[in-house]
Amino acid sequence: MSLVELGATALLAELEAGRVSSVEAVRAYLERIDRYDGEIGAFLRVDRDGALAKAEEVDRRRRAGQAVGRLGGLPVAVKDILCARGELTTCGSRMLANFRPPYDATVVSRLQAADAVLIGRTNLDEFAMGGSTENSAFQKTRNPWDLERIPGGSSGGAAACVAADMAPLSIGTDTGGSIRQPAALCGITGLKPTYGRVSRFGLVAFASSLDQVGPLARDAQDTALLLEVIAGHDPRDSTSVDRPVPPYHQLVRQPLKGLSIGLVREHYAAGLEPEVEAAVREAARVFQSLGATVKEVSMPHSKYGVAAYYIIAPSEASSNLARYDGVHYGYRTDEQAMLAELAAEQALYQSAGTSAAEPDSPLVRLYRRTRSEGFGPEVKRRIMLGTYALSAGYYDAYYLKALKVRRLIRQDFDQAFAQVDMVAGPVTTAPAFKLGEKVNDPLAMYLVDLYTVSANLSGIAGLAFPCGFSRGLPIGLQLQGPPFAEERLLAACYMYQQVTDWHLRRPSLS
Ligand code: GLN
Repeated sequence: MSLVELGATALLAELEAGRVSSVEAVRAYLERIDRYDGEIGAFLRVDRDGALAKAEEVDRRRRAGQAVGRLGGLPVAVKDILCARGELTTCGSRMLANFRPPYDATVVSRLQAADAVLIGRTNLDEFAMGGSTENSAFQKTRNPWDLERIPGGSSGGAAACVAADMAPLSIGTDTGGSIRQPAALCGITGLKPTYGRVSRFGLVAFASSLDQVGPLARDAQDTALLLEVIAGHDPRDSTSVDRPVPPYHQLVRQPLKGLSIGLVREHYAAGLEPEVEAAVREAARVFQSLGATVKEVSMPHSKYGVAAYYIIAPSEASSNLARYDGVHYGYRTDEQAMLAELAAEQALYQSAGTSAAEPDSPLVRLYRRTRSEGFGPEVKRRIMLGTYALSAGYYDAYYLKALKVRRLIRQDFDQAFAQVDMVAGPVTTAPAFKLGEKVNDPLAMYLVDLYTVSANLSGIAGLAFPCGFSRGLPIGLQLQGPPFAEERLLAACYMYQQVTDWHLRRPSLS
């Protein structure tokens, strides 16, 4: 078996036993990236020199018998939305195409402290807004299972690189499904942790009350390993929760006794593809055969999730993205061209008198030009939607109403979790769609998030992993549990993966 097929846990065992060096492992992944990423486009940048230097350093320490961190020499890919000091962090946006943050995100420093080898930065929808990675200002990412199809999004690069064995582990972010949906569409495992489980410090904000950083990997065990390293309290994120981090990687193997799983009645409605429904119901039977009890639960408000999310997320985004003004940092419009434009308009205004509109001031013009050139169309759409929903006169009708719906969705979960340990259901209504298929239909793109946004609106944990295939494309199962139920979700997934082999299937790349 080649090194890249081992997965993180098995590769780590080889590294720890000294049978494989980190340099060898990193070289094997770099070779794989050279061979396949030209077609797939998962990475925005690959840090060959940095990765090899770090791998050498870890190898040296390991050979000298010195302490080595938890991920000692394992490559990890990072979504290009987490700050790393002095390194490009673009968020898939022209606005930040040359942005080098002056500090590290906490997740990045935790990875470094754990001796991960940061191998490269993965592609994403601009500012994580999207579900196909087609909103990246830089490149398309293709699904390793079918290069004509999207890998999902917004963490499309993060999912595609693991699915194509170009990294054993990767970091994504999930505001409305952006870890779980691409994990499902690429046939890998991805976890959206409970809000507050992982620090958001240094994560470029999209919708702050929904954003969470989380792991993507090949299976439950590898996902648990990465979660263990990135989770934990951080005084620099006031929403991070001060609660000990369980040894997830060890606990994942403990079988769950008396597990009860709920199937949400409202999930099985029009729009769900029959193959997806069949795969999910079959997965429920597998859990039953493992001793779990399965019963139906109802979440009557889940159907309002997308509507509430697409008020709340854009509202927060419109506020968070106000900082990109061309003054502080990031892209700035060409000032000479701007002043020439102003002079021309002023001349016109003077000759036309009061019949023409008075030209904007230089400052307003700088903002307007910078933002219209720096942001792509989807980001602009969100800023406009959010600004509208928050404006006087509409705030109560839209934003406040959406917050009330948010509360009702959380109550649905609370009621479900009073009856069952976790709920199981689909991640998406259908497998990966074709590139370009939904780019001109934002509403269709938003509806893809039907099953994922509720976990973000409620702050709870959600785990996605493969449970079948339809016409050669992976289908994902989602387990959602109460806040801080990560260890149970991962253990349930591990049990499932012990008796199924969906997670072991690999795309055939030529
Ligand atoms: N697809 C959703 C959106 O476009 C979710 C994105 C995310 O989780 N970052 O907002």
